[in-house]
Amino acid sequence: MKVVTRAQELPSACAFVPTMGALHAGHGSLFSLAKSYSENVVASIYINPLQFENKDDLEKYPKTPERDIALAEEYGVTHLWFPTYEEIYPEGFTRLTAGAISSFYEGASRPGHFDGVVTVVRRLFDLVKPQYAIFGEKDFQQLALVREIADEVKIIAAPIIRENDGLAMSSRNVRLDEDGRVAARVISKALRESRSESELRSLLAQEPLFTLDYADYIDEETFLPPTSTTRFTRAIVAGWINGVRLLDNMAVKSEVK
Ligand code: AMP
Repeated sequence: MKVVTRAQELPSACAFVPTMGALHAGHGSLFSLAKSYSENVVASIYINPLQFENKDDLEKYPKTPERDIALAEEYGVTHLWFPTYEEIYPEGFTRLTAGAISSFYEGASRPGHFDGVVTVVRRLFDLVKPQYAIFGEKDFQQLALVREIADEVKIIAAPIIRENDGLAMSSRNVRLDEDGRVAARVISKALRESRSESELRSLLAQEPLFTLDYADYIDEETFLPPTSTTRFTRAIVAGWINGVRLLDNMAVKSEVK
């Protein structure tokens, strides 16, 4: 595996996995999936300041570069790229505005977040010029918005990887204390066991350490409430434990309102 700091050191054709580091097996699954699309698996580690509306969250974002290098190599990354701010954001770079669904959910709770996401992803794509890019369903709304700006890059969705107790893996999980870590089980449990939106909310309400932001059933394509024309319904949840923002979602088999 080559560790590089400049895009010009990357191969001309690849499957690409953008990350913010503090890598875990969820990222690893994206690297493995990338390998099935291309010999060259490029991963980037870049904590994008534009997508953090909260300075404290940006500063507290975990950084584990040594472990990241080992994990990337273990999962078959061929080129690990640590971009610099200057390369991503040269003077006069173009700021993009994310599509309409960016006003809901994560976008409503984190103003400007998705504009920062699509701006960095477009810059990364322009520098890497990948054939494929892999994104996790963990960030379901991000995946939908990235698809809209991907142009020539084929976007591949990867399923959510979970801890043994069901908690969706996330770089932020290390910031949970012991009680918080146990309490966090409520999210995947509620997603698995609920049969309606109101059931989802009442299951989540049973955990006093969990502060709800949203828990909704949505149409996967519109992010609006499911209707008679909805093809796929998804249950989405976000909230906080120990001040740590946690996200999860799950496909809902049959639409129950
Ligand atoms: P991040 O480093 O958090 O920006 O995530 C980089 C990529 O990994 C994004 O496409 C995420 O959706 C994906 N990802 C993060 N956690 C998981 C997980 N538990 N399972 C699958 N993909 C994930």
